[in-house]
Amino acid sequence: MLIDGELCDAASGETFATHNPATGEKIADVPKADRGDAQRAIAAARTAFDEGPWPHMTGPERAEKLRAIAQLIADNASDLSEIESRDGGGTIRKASLADIPGAQSAFEWFAQMAETRPDRLELEGSPFPASENYQRYEPLGVCTGIIPWNFPFIMASWKIAPALAAGNTSVLKPASFTSLSALRLAQLIAEADLLPPGVLNVISGPGGTVGEELAANPLVDKTAFTGSTEVGRRIMQLASGTVKPVTLELGGKSANIVLDDADLDQAAAAVLWGTFMHGGQVCESGTRALVQRSIYDEFVNLLVERAAAISLGDPLDMLTDLGPLVDRSQVETVERYVALGREEVGDPLVGGAKPDDLAAGLDPNAFYRPTIFADVDNKARIAQEEIFGPVLCVIPFDTDDDAVAIANDSIYGLAGGVQSGDLDRAQAVAARMRTGTVWINDYHMLDPKRPFGGYKQSGIGRELGTEGYDIYRQVKHIYVNPETKGRDNHFHYAVLSGNI
Ligand code: NDP
Repeated sequence: MLIDGELCDAASGETFATHNPATGEKIADVPKADRGDAQRAIAAARTAFDEGPWPHMTGPERAEKLRAIAQLIADNASDLSEIESRDGGGTIRKASLADIPGAQSAFEWFAQMAETRPDRLELEGSPFPASENYQRYEPLGVCTGIIPWNFPFIMASWKIAPALAAGNTSVLKPASFTSLSALRLAQLIAEADLLPPGVLNVISGPGGTVGEELAANPLVDKTAFTGSTEVGRRIMQLASGTVKPVTLELGGKSANIVLDDADLDQAAAAVLWGTFMHGGQVCESGTRALVQRSIYDEFVNLLVERAAAISLGDPLDMLTDLGPLVDRSQVETVERYVALGREEVGDPLVGGAKPDDLAAGLDPNAFYRPTIFADVDNKARIAQEEIFGPVLCVIPFDTDDDAVAIANDSIYGLAGGVQSGDLDRAQAVAARMRTGTVWINDYHMLDPKRPFGGYKQSGIGRELGTEGYDIYRQVKHIYVNPETKGRDNHFHYAVLSGNI
């Protein structure tokens, strides 16, 4: 772990094992922090903020450090990709093409924000004629981040980079299934001696104790959380004790709408990529495909044929499409939902089982085949609840109005897609979807330069983009009466009396 500039174990010396889900083999013993360790990390971040140079450095000075972190990531990309793949079960293809470069580009983007976003805004047009007014943008203070297991390295970058860029100090807790890549990043940063002590702290340990401390502790100024909606609600409760702002990036059940004028080949690619990438363990996955009735049968056949061809295997093999889910327990969750789907809808058209043809040495209980249920009623639980596995619900619709109504009939609103040959029609539909991101003729195209976050119970606030930087800053209004002598203020007289 990294606390106050020192690489350390938990004070208790306790550890927990982390496993490679593909094989079940133990990879490492991870420090198991407790509340006391969390409090130490928070105190270090507090001191680094209150007394340290970091919040007072200029944006370009901080940007230089963030770019150095981006370079560290690039220099260690191969090692980090392997750690990410082995610890979380995602393919090495995804880790090396998306996760590690994605985190690097997040540090680069927020370095650019620190360089270019103004710290001061002049305010014109005061109703009090003699005054000068401006806004200062200041860091919030100590920012904690709690992240999930599905994209551990990218999620770490999304929490650390904007917090540090804006002049805050940070304490990060990775998910217990996947702590290794964030700990490795902390180690690289500490060994390169890039940051003053306490500016970045990374601690591993259980959400129920360490995570709760990071959200509730009164020395913390902001908490950013990505994970389940259920824990997101708990984070809000914990943060409310000291009225600290929260950013929440929570669950989703996003709709990917396929209109009747779509190129079916391209739309099928967008639906399959949108659902099955990383085994569907993606918050913004388009797990409800809404398909217009006139193309429905042909399109569903195409989906089924292609889903059956997705290969499952060793995630460290560059030819593997899908690795295991993060843990056997996640496979059990998927099995429960597929059993429910059989009751609600009938048998899936493809998948619906663990694979029986894996190479020797791989754990068949950790994998699940891409699964498609057709003719799903949007009211069914499998269409309403986040499964977080490779399960697609296909839902027919008649008109664009119907598609919008079905898409919006969800407690979630994180993302969505519209596949169409008519860009005006697609954008009209996208504008009516109550959701934070819509990809037209594509899916999953996340970029640190664009804001990301949810409507409704998918979250609060935005990460990335300029919004994802500004959310890590306070706004202060300064009013200056340039008159430094005399007490002649007509507004005072008018409101109170002449005797002050
Ligand atoms: P959680 O929401 O439980 O975990 C996310 C993070 O929060 C982890 O770091 C976890 O720590 C921590 N945490 C857990 N409980 C608390 C708490 N009481 N206070 C503070 N922090 C806490 O997700 P799970 O890993 O349990 O996954 C459950 C389901 O959540 C999935 O099946 C999926 O539906 C959804 N999910 C959604 C994600 C998204 O990106 N929207 C990501 C991951 C999951 P620890 O790992 O130590 O428990």
